[in-house]
Amino acid sequence: MRQRIIPYGKQNITDEDVQAVVDALRSDYLTQGPRIEEFEVAFANYVGSKYAVAVANGTAALHLCALALGVKEGDKVITTPITFAASANCVRYCGGEVVFADIDPKTYLLDINRVRELLEASPKGTYKGIIPVDFAGRAVDLERFRELANEFGLWIIEDACHAPGGYFVDSQGQEQKCGNGQFAGLAIFSFHPVKHIAAGEGGMITTNDEALYKKLLKLRTHGITKDSGEFQNSHEFASSEQQISNSGWPGWYMEMQELGYNYRLTDLQCALGLSQLGRADGGIKRRREIASDYNEAFIGKPFVKSQSGFVEGHAYHLYILEVENRFGLYNRLRDSNIYAQIHYIPCHLMPYYRQFGWKEGDLPNAENYYQNCISLPLYPSLTKGDLTFVIETILKFYQTES
Ligand SMILES: *Cc1c(COP(=O)(O)O)cnc(C)c1O
Repeated sequence: MRQRIIPYGKQNITDEDVQAVVDALRSDYLTQGPRIEEFEVAFANYVGSKYAVAVANGTAALHLCALALGVKEGDKVITTPITFAASANCVRYCGGEVVFADIDPKTYLLDINRVRELLEASPKGTYKGIIPVDFAGRAVDLERFRELANEFGLWIIEDACHAPGGYFVDSQGQEQKCGNGQFAGLAIFSFHPVKHIAAGEGGMITTNDEALYKKLLKLRTHGITKDSGEFQNSHEFASSEQQISNSGWPGWYMEMQELGYNYRLTDLQCALGLSQLGRADGGIKRRREIASDYNEAFIGKPFVKSQSGFVEGHAYHLYILEVENRFGLYNRLRDSNIYAQIHYIPCHLMPYYRQFGWKEGDLPNAENYYQNCISLPLYPSLTKGDLTFVIETILKFYQTES
């Protein structure tokens, strides 16, 4: 028996990463220093967006997006039940109503046909937005979602936490990277250690919309601005002293213009994120190799009902099997120190969401998926030996079982 645990996901910290954080520690800034903008610029470059705003975590990113878009009490927003709860919760933070639509059982992504049915069943204006999720790292076809959203006047927040570096191919044959802002007004990412890029905690919002970008910067830090172009109070209020008023605004002056938060990311975390971002392409390459090995190992096996497959542009945060006897497999893997995981328990059946009337049978594809799914270990530092061990343990389990 192996002693070492093989988790489903894991960060990879190099000496370079350690040095980057040490350098930040020894610099003048632990937070609100130059590394934040450096990380933002590098990340925007990586995903192909105009702007990026670094925030405390992915959940804060979602919350700020919902605030910036003006979600308020009674607003209805559509998302998928097969996601981390935060994708839905951000709507609730603002008092809005979450409407879950079922998944496509082949892609595991929010089914655009179910979304269309919802939109067509209500008067225009009932729904305000859609939050599709690039679940497991598979990019949502946002070109199609954009067309639908335009028809009904909706905004889109792309939850791309699983998919930095992922892309889909649009109708013109162009690769459209997750978070590039071409189709979704806002996209969000997470730097939790199980995600592609680790910063301890951390998040990023990307957009091509300058007005939203400025709003997000303000909301990230208490709703405060130091940009004199945006000031609302008078010079005379800022300082009644003549010589100051005549020469512009006093140096100390700032305004809190809306109710924001402290959702900043520290320079220490940005240093780690920047260093990690430098290796992101290599990480994706390795993730795709592992996914390809899983795909080949399990394709056509009688115990496999469905699997992630090998899909162009997939960023492979997760590799998922849908299997017979998932409970038995999960326990056998645990006994072998392989900590596979289940993503996700459908959000609409969490006790919190049941109170709004959601119940079993509402979203059959998601519920059926949950009964069979298991996420296999997948991270760039997973060794060939460990990968083989995982595959063999699964194959052996079903040989002895039948
Ligand atoms: C991780 C994750 C989040 C939240 O990110 P945190 O940084 O943990 O707050 C949101 N949505 C999805 C799909 C995620 O996987």
